[in-house]
Amino acid sequence: MKAISLISGGLDSVLATKLILDQGIDVIGLNCVTPFSSCTHNNCNCVVKRAANKLGIELKVVNLGEEFLEILKNPSYGYGKNMNPCIDCKILMLKKAKEAMENTGAKFIVTGEVLGQRPMSQKRPTLGLIEKKAGVEGILVRPLSAKVLDATEPEKNGLIDRGKLLGISGRGRTEQIFLAKTFDISDYSTPAGGCLLTYQGYAKKVDDLIKHNQLTLDNVFLLKIGRHFRLSPQHKLIVGRDEKENIQLFALAKKGDWIYEPQEEIRGPVALGRGEPQGEAQIEQSCRIVARYCDENKSDLEIRVKQYGDDSQKNIRCAPFKDSEAFAFRI
Ligand code: SF4
Repeated sequence: MKAISLISGGLDSVLATKLILDQGIDVIGLNCVTPFSSCTHNNCNCVVKRAANKLGIELKVVNLGEEFLEILKNPSYGYGKNMNPCIDCKILMLKKAKEAMENTGAKFIVTGEVLGQRPMSQKRPTLGLIEKKAGVEGILVRPLSAKVLDATEPEKNGLIDRGKLLGISGRGRTEQIFLAKTFDISDYSTPAGGCLLTYQGYAKKVDDLIKHNQLTLDNVFLLKIGRHFRLSPQHKLIVGRDEKENIQLFALAKKGDWIYEPQEEIRGPVALGRGEPQGEAQIEQSCRIVARYCDENKSDLEIRVKQYGDDSQKNIRCAPFKDSEAFAFRI
């Protein structure tokens, strides 16, 4: 018999999976990658893969790209503390788990959720709502809290022994940490540690994209790089913070983007402008921001400006913005 377990790399999902494995049930791990996951599983050996290895289970990865962006723009159940639409996100992930269950002949789904641990998504009524909306009522087993929740179908049918499941509830982590020691599990991420939407600074940049109707995968890729400035509703500027980010900005530029860099003899950042600037004045503003982050301490600097995909370029001599002037545009 098989089960699908949603694996995030966090301790709770690892423990929940272990409790089901210990009942002699085959488990397939399913990791849902959103555009805001810290790892996209590109040649990595991240905590999710290490957890699956340690548990000795197969790991399947599902990429939630555009689908996730759609729920993020207008989540039916709102956002958490920052821009994390946890209830809608969990419903989507459980729908994917149900699809995987049907494709693999698995009999039920496992998650590491703990009753009352998260204020937004793990209250008793919310757990029920999530199950209902995902269409997984009765087939979703939460081994860490099973004894304080209604019995599920696999428990009622004797496919799993409810007596060997746990009754943890609340925000404390003592029982999970004790259990981790018992199982010799020490390699796991912090709760929600992999989701960038839970970080305040990052969430501000996501909110800015949503407000300006610019939440696309291309624009989201840029959020992990550089300092971000909003110059107008149409136009934003991303300034590299080091050599690696300067190279990444070149790599992510697409036709029509504006590229700014200081003249060769000056050490400074590459910047990428996206969206149509409002005339020459806004191009000059971008140059002045770039000049602010150059190493030279001069009253004016020359910045090279070109549009990606166009051979022509121009040099603009400008005075670097003062900190307060640049920060007025910072997102
Ligand atoms: S923290 Fe992020 S990945 Fe986790 S449920 Fe919330 S939105 Fe989804």
